[in-house]
Amino acid sequence: MKKIPRALNEVIESFERLPGIGPKSAARLGFYLLAVPDNFTEKLADSIANLKKKIKICETCFGVGEEKECEICRDDTRNRKLICVVERADEVLAVEAVGGFNGLYHVLGGAINPLDHVGPDDLKINELLNRVEGDGIEEIILATNPTIEGEGTALYIKKKLEGIDYKGKVSRIGSGLPMGAELGFADSVTLSRAFEGRREL
Ligand SMILES: [Zn+2]
Repeated sequence: MKKIPRALNEVIESFERLPGIGPKSAARLGFYLLAVPDNFTEKLADSIANLKKKIKICETCFGVGEEKECEICRDDTRNRKLICVVERADEVLAVEAVGGFNGLYHVLGGAINPLDHVGPDDLKINELLNRVEGDGIEEIILATNPTIEGEGTALYIKKKLEGIDYKGKVSRIGSGLPMGAELGFADSVTLSRAFEGRREL
C-alpha cells in the first residue's frame, strides 16, 4: 500500500485515539476532511483548540461550564435539596435534555472498576460525601449506569452515605434502562421512566 502523506496520517492517528473510532473510521474521517471546504476544517480546529482553554470543570459538581461554578450549580431556581449522581459529564446533558429533573448534579468521573484499576479514590466520591454531609439534602439519586461497575459504585456510595451525617433518602434509578446500557445513550422516554421508577435503596 502506498504511504499516506504525513499531515493526513497525523490526523488519522489522532482520530484513532478517540473512543469508538477504529482505524477504518479514522481513515474515512481523515479523507473526508480533505474534501470539505477550508472554513469547516478551520472552525473545527479552532473549536478543538478552544475546548481546553474555555471549558472549566465545575468546582462543586465536576460537570462542565465556562465559570468556576457551572450554570446549573449557579441557577437559583433549581432544587438544591436534590442531587443526581452520574458517572460522566455528558450524562448531565442527557438528563437535562429529557427535562423534568430540577435538582443539582454530581459527576463522579467514572465508575469503580478494579480491572481498569479505577478505585473509589480515583472518583469524586469523597467530594460527594463532603458536599452532602450535614447539608440538609433530601434525596440523592444514584444514576450511575446499569452495568456491573455502575451498580457496584451505587452500592459503595450508599454504604459510605450511611457512615456520615446524611439523613435524606438514597435512591437508585429504576429499571427500564437495559442492563449494560449507558445513560448518555438512552432515549428520553427510557430515561424519564428510569427517573420516575427510581426506588429507595
Ligand atoms: Zn456545577
